[in-house]
Amino acid sequence: MKSEDFEHWMQKAAQWSAEYRRTVEQYPVRSQVAPGDILNQIHPSPPDTPESMDTIFSDFETIIPPGMTHWQHPGFFAYFPSNAAPAAVVAEVLATSIGAQCMLWQTSPAATELEVRMVDWLRQATGLPSDFQGVLQDTASSATLCAILTMRETTLGFTGNTDGLFGMAPLRVYASSRTHSSIDKAMWVAGLGQNNLVKIPTHNDGNFAMDADALRKAIHADREAGLQPAGVVICVGGTSIGATDDVAAICRIAKEEGLYTHVDAAWAGSAMICPEYRHLWAGIEDADSIVLNPHKWLGAPMECSAHFIKDPSVLVKTLAIQPEYLKTYGKDGIINFSEWGVQLGRRFRALKLWFLMRAYGLDGLRERIRNHVDWSAQLANRLDAEPDFEVVTSPILSLFTFRYIPTDESASDDVNLALVNAINDDGTIYLTQTSHDGRLVIRFTAGHFDLEARTIDQAFETICRLARQ
Ligand SMILES: *Cc1c(COP(=O)(O)O)cnc(C)c1O
Repeated sequence: MKSEDFEHWMQKAAQWSAEYRRTVEQYPVRSQVAPGDILNQIHPSPPDTPESMDTIFSDFETIIPPGMTHWQHPGFFAYFPSNAAPAAVVAEVLATSIGAQCMLWQTSPAATELEVRMVDWLRQATGLPSDFQGVLQDTASSATLCAILTMRETTLGFTGNTDGLFGMAPLRVYASSRTHSSIDKAMWVAGLGQNNLVKIPTHNDGNFAMDADALRKAIHADREAGLQPAGVVICVGGTSIGATDDVAAICRIAKEEGLYTHVDAAWAGSAMICPEYRHLWAGIEDADSIVLNPHKWLGAPMECSAHFIKDPSVLVKTLAIQPEYLKTYGKDGIINFSEWGVQLGRRFRALKLWFLMRAYGLDGLRERIRNHVDWSAQLANRLDAEPDFEVVTSPILSLFTFRYIPTDESASDDVNLALVNAINDDGTIYLTQTSHDGRLVIRFTAGHFDLEARTIDQAFETICRLARQ
């Protein structure tokens, strides 16, 4: 491509994007391709000579969209949403065009300083006290890894990075049995080992919260056995059914035991911009570390995870490494955000948050989340009122699970899996399944940025129609 054609192709990309958003409902939500369908359409080796942008763009238009699952489709009720609000997409295009690598303050002061401000906007928006500072990590998985590494290093007096973990008593981290797999993976990557993630049982009702007494007992038993308790991961809005721990109670125990706390609110954290949902994390001011993903429910495109930390100095002491070529001389009081995470090179992530929060305002964002929560509750009630459906776990924010009740109860798992598959083959909406109390159930979560009530009606009709076929 010739440099002078850049503007033309950017305009073409803008036109295509606008048309895509206008017409996304024409696609089945979940991609219907079979494994290899896309691979077989891509030339097995790279071209030696330039190809025309016309050819490249036209291949993009024909090959790629059918192989995409359309996360910006209003009928997306699977997993958790991954919203990309239009105003934030514009910011993302600008950040990509500038193409800065924002590892240090001096490699783009605006990126660092806007990040400082945007994280603080999010802190205020979610009602966190002013003693939290923060950073934008790529994903919640990374933020959790950083928190587990901080637990490791604070427990070891910052000797783990230099000496490794050889020959020492295992470090133990505690979390509810309903936490996300990213906690397990962080244990693997931090070298602490899966078996040292102690899964505490949960109460089997209400918010499915961690049993606080069991947590205390596990910590004491580990100390007596000569192991080294290091920290507790607290779950607010778990992925499967929305399980939520009692943050105040768990932080109290962790404080008494001298343990670092990390709160995983990757999905539910966005809802905390609405004061009426903040009871779900009451006591949050006592946590040491919190992650929430604006790239899930709030509207920022991937990747954008807000990681709040009470005392950034322990995080930085855990993760800062300064070879000569990364040193900045003669500037006081600057932040080098690459010292707050695992990555050295970093995108300019704050720009999309600036556009997002200004273009919709907190009121606009709150209204969306409130609608999602209300509409999910209404759908749960409608399904529960049908004789052949039951709600299995009640809504926590906008997430609930349900199942179709077959005449032969022993066929429940098979029938419900068949129903999920039929719904996703139909393509109007997209749902996923999970397992609860040993039974396969169907998850529903509303979260599309511009969701309308009519799409919830469509979901109800689709679920009932396909179940009864
Ligand atoms: C989605 C999710 C994660 C993982 O988030 P990534 O940003 O994809 O790493 C972790 N915990 C919970 C509760 C989640 O919902």
